[in-house]
Amino acid sequence: MKDSPKTRASRIVRSDIQRMSAYHVQNAEGMVKLDAMENPWAWPGDQAGWPEAIANVQANRYPDPGAGGVIRRLRDVMAIPDAMDVVLGNGSDELIQLLIQMVAGDNVTILSPEPSFVMYRVLAETNRVEYRGVSLTADMQLDVPAMLAAINDLQPALIFLACPNNPTGIRYAESDIRQIIEAATGLVVIDEAYIAFSEDSALPLLDQYPNAVVMRTLSKVGLAGLRLGMLIGHPDWITEVDKIRLPYNIGALTQAAAEFALDRYDELLGQARELVAMREAQYLTLQDERYRLRHVWKSDANFLLVQTEEGRARYIFEGLRDQDVLIKCLDGGHPLLKDCLRLTIGTSQENRQLLAALEKVV
Ligand SMILES: *Cc1c(COP(=O)(O)O)cnc(C)c1O
Repeated sequence: MKDSPKTRASRIVRSDIQRMSAYHVQNAEGMVKLDAMENPWAWPGDQAGWPEAIANVQANRYPDPGAGGVIRRLRDVMAIPDAMDVVLGNGSDELIQLLIQMVAGDNVTILSPEPSFVMYRVLAETNRVEYRGVSLTADMQLDVPAMLAAINDLQPALIFLACPNNPTGIRYAESDIRQIIEAATGLVVIDEAYIAFSEDSALPLLDQYPNAVVMRTLSKVGLAGLRLGMLIGHPDWITEVDKIRLPYNIGALTQAAAEFALDRYDELLGQARELVAMREAQYLTLQDERYRLRHVWKSDANFLLVQTEEGRARYIFEGLRDQDVLIKCLDGGHPLLKDCLRLTIGTSQENRQLLAALEKVV
């Protein structure tokens, strides 16, 4: 049969996939890039030893399937308890995908507060799993009674809690997290992508709550290009995830680069501390009425959520873009994000450029 790829695809590709659009990444060429929570400093720069660490990789051989060298170093720098196991993903996005695949089936529901990280919903949908969002409170905190009611109604197999949350930067109260873990009948995944900019990890809770796991990533601390995420939890959970992980999912170059970087993890944490100091300064500066923001949220991450005057978010986003400053416009994504923009913290020069451009456009 000589039908075109388009015709044939429309016949055999799942109709829900045909209706989807691909994950959109904004073109950032030549821009001050404050849209994606990357560490602004190129690393390792001229770090001695980096080229050799990569050059020694035997690219003709498959990598260490369990990435033992990386996991050993992660255990060390992140003080992962011996009783917990670790599995790595090609970014934590892959781990979210694996967790969902692990439970996917009829009458399975996945729950998350909203607004939160969009991949929970996207990956639930691509795996044909029912997804439910429970709105946060107006101050972007967990609505615990609503979460508990949803848990009771839906008995979700997975609950994703990003803490600190993206796109709000808010860290939830530990007592709220505990209540949700205690009520859950499935697995609670605490996504700590921004833990380097925060405090109070849930890692110490895992001992008491073996039906919770902690997910982290190297992306936000300075190694977004490596694509390395990690899931930490009770061996009974990690064993199941490991069964559906594709063999050799972490390439040899990534492993070598990550080992090198983790041996110098203090430098990345030092940069994270610097970003936290700049975040606090930017938070205070943005209160000035010359920026005409209705609200700037306190943040525990490497970005700030701000609310513009009514109906102005898209205009300001475009005005900044015209001045080569790229941020994220969140307006329209969720009712709580009306008129909201997300500003990643960059170098002090980039942060100043943002302020100047913002003053101009408002
Ligand atoms: C950025 C982000 C991730 C994804 O990180 P990768 O490791 O780069 O895939 C996961 N969760 C949250 C909340 C994020 O903001």
